[in-house]
Amino acid sequence: MAAIMTQNSASHICTARCADGSKKTLLRYGEYIAAQKGQRWTAPRAAVYEAVLDARRPATAYQLLEALCAKDGTDVKPATVYRALDALQELGLVARIESMNAYLACRHPQQPHEHIFLVCDDCGDAAEVADHKIAGHLRHDAASHGFKTARQVMELHGTCQHCQK
Ligand SMILES: [Zn+2]
Ligand SMILES: [Zn+2]
Repeated sequence: MAAIMTQNSASHICTARCADGSKKTLLRYGEYIAAQKGQRWTAPRAAVYEAVLDARRPATAYQLLEALCAKDGTDVKPATVYRALDALQELGLVARIESMNAYLACRHPQQPHEHIFLVCDDCGDAAEVADHKIAGHLRHDAASHGFKTARQVMELHGTCQHCQK
């Protein structure tokens, strides 16, 4: 796994189509990081992670459920999907876009970072800015005002390059 640990730490923008990290590599990393953190890498977790990776856009839990049911032809329970999504978020593999209530796979989970999302209000696509600085600055500013941050949500809304054409 050493090879995928070495990436530079500058901020960059990632979309669901970003080449940074193939699906196979990410699935393998998921299993690896779950083991590292003493969590089980169950079949539903792997399946939900794969569904998030397959989605071309941020997907809601319901859309993921539909995709899973269509793929396996089996009856996947909503609670299973939600539990898997919680676990995947905890592992840093999947991020939730609050305003859309949708999930997006992080394309470089090997690097701990906060997420800043660029959300297109026209097509519903979202890109991720992998940030290694801004979030820290904000938390630091908040702390200097005696504020204890529990959760940080950062989204920029607008129109993506494609929709501007
Ligand atoms: Zn990320
Ligand atoms: Zn767009």
